[in-house]
Amino acid sequence: MMTRTPEQILKAYYGYDSFRPMQREIIESVVQGRDSLVLMPTGGGKSICFQVPAIMLDGIAIVVSPLISLMKDQVETLRANGIGAEALNSANNEAVNADIKLRCERGEVKLLYTSPERLLAELPWIKEALHVSFFAIDESHCISQWGHDFRPEYTRLGILHEQFPDVPVMALTATADKITKADIIERLCLRDHLMFVGSFDRPNLSLDVKRGYSGADKLRVIMNMISRHKGESGIIYCLSRKTTEQVARQLASRGVSVGVYHAGLSISDRNRVQEDFINDRVDVVVATIAFGMGIDKSNVRFVVHYNLPKSIESFYQEIGRGGRDGLPTETLLFYNIQDIILLKSFADESGQQEINLEKLKRMQEYAEAQVCRRRILLNYFGEASDCSCGNCDVCRTPPEHFDGTVLVQKALSAMMRTEQQTGFTAVIDILRGSLSASVKEHGYDRIKTFGAGREVPFRDWQDYLLQMLQMGFIEVAYNEDRHLKVTPLGLDVLYGRRRVELAVIKREDMSVKGRKPAKTKPILSEGNLLEDVGLFDALKALRLEIARESKVPAYVVMSDKTLHALAANKPTTLLAFGNTYGIGEHKCNTYGVRFIEVIKKYV
Ligand code: ADP
Ligand code: ZN
Repeated sequence: MMTRTPEQILKAYYGYDSFRPMQREIIESVVQGRDSLVLMPTGGGKSICFQVPAIMLDGIAIVVSPLISLMKDQVETLRANGIGAEALNSANNEAVNADIKLRCERGEVKLLYTSPERLLAELPWIKEALHVSFFAIDESHCISQWGHDFRPEYTRLGILHEQFPDVPVMALTATADKITKADIIERLCLRDHLMFVGSFDRPNLSLDVKRGYSGADKLRVIMNMISRHKGESGIIYCLSRKTTEQVARQLASRGVSVGVYHAGLSISDRNRVQEDFINDRVDVVVATIAFGMGIDKSNVRFVVHYNLPKSIESFYQEIGRGGRDGLPTETLLFYNIQDIILLKSFADESGQQEINLEKLKRMQEYAEAQVCRRRILLNYFGEASDCSCGNCDVCRTPPEHFDGTVLVQKALSAMMRTEQQTGFTAVIDILRGSLSASVKEHGYDRIKTFGAGREVPFRDWQDYLLQMLQMGFIEVAYNEDRHLKVTPLGLDVLYGRRRVELAVIKREDMSVKGRKPAKTKPILSEGNLLEDVGLFDALKALRLEIARESKVPAYVVMSDKTLHALAANKPTTLLAFGNTYGIGEHKCNTYGVRFIEVIKKYV
């Protein structure tokens, strides 16, 4: 075979002009026969790191993947680019698998995807009949029992090096913590490996946090978000199954095309929702964290966390499912006091209490941050960063403060006068002078602070109490019905020995004149050409038509970024079409004529 450079392969098969940082070095390492460990965030571009060398090298590369849906997505994407790829797994009937094996033996397949258990079962055949260029172990954090996706079969993959001493192994993951890294290296028996840690920055993801919003407020903000992204895809993560169903119902009743996903649904229901989402038949999925691992969909335009996630790792992985194509993508995190109370009790009851509480604390610190949020995330992943990103809420609108001493004193006094035997809701009821059942029962309407904070709305009190908790003026006694206790620092405030600055509550999305749905502004393509919106829609329709014909998701046919480039550059020759971002030779040959036909109507 004529040897081509990695760059030539990248252009010919993928239609990309250059590698992202580190991709080239990773490719070279495997070409030179070295083992490697590759850490990159979701959407960072790991697949290219093993796909390009698989094309370059003689023989067949074997890719281990934990989920059939992931294999399917990758195989479809590879085939759309004219690369021979197959998946050997239990979803196929055995006649199909036999046929795949035959094609592998004939050298028609450059990448063979398989599950760890299948791989182990097929080792004798592989040894006998194939020439393996290298093994790529995708999602290799599944090997670690400390991680969230532990798969026992992964731990047996150390056998690969035993049986194929000369074949390099590349392990890839988006989970970068120390224990996981060490586990991967040890279990896979990596030898003299090279370690590649890509940047965890995803500058196209905007970061927003909204504190203390009620259900109704959240719904309004989410509806705004959805209307900014008409006909586009988004994910909403909730903490509980019940919440997912409730939020989905609310959205459905407002005409949103929405699906629900959680572990309580049957496998077939879950698969259907996932397929509908991937194939753009539903726009929004409301889900628990059970959703996402099998999703490689590149055009997810927003990710909302309806509740606080349990760790920065989960949070980052979940928002990472947005904007894989590199286009601007919104992420939004809601958090309030109930989330924290609930998550704390989960962590307390978990097997690894100490670690989980610590992780939650870091997550909470992120949500409460007064400095650039991206900076916090990058520092968390060990990437020193000291600049402001301009694409998070803190950078865009720095927080403002006011003297909240009197407000805080009122709240503290209410707690003291109930002998610190009340929880959040009762304290707020007392402050607001609400005659709730529990207030009446305990005679709290007779205490001096009753109604002293009437002018502050309920949800604002929730927010101020949360701030007081964060600043250490109060504590939640988890072992005493979650009653609020005043700390020594709180006493300092109560007795006038300390002043308090509270953050001004901003609920800009609530007012009618709130954030404008400004996203309709024309998108500038790479060459700074103004794109034709009508043409974009026409191209999108053609893409959907082709996707349905060939039974693959639309983003496999062509990425949104490519459609934008076409709508801006309007190529009318195959040569120009083939030079577009994301169009390799195969896509040029299979789709060129049809797309050009549509484009010609607009020039
Ligand atoms: P990961 O597996 O790390 O989550 P992917 O391999 O799916 O990420 O890559 C994310 C997206 O980035 C894909 O759409 C991929 O085609 C694109 N991509 C990867 N490398 C490049 C590159 N060098 N130039 C342009 N796009 C790239
Ligand atoms: Zn920032």
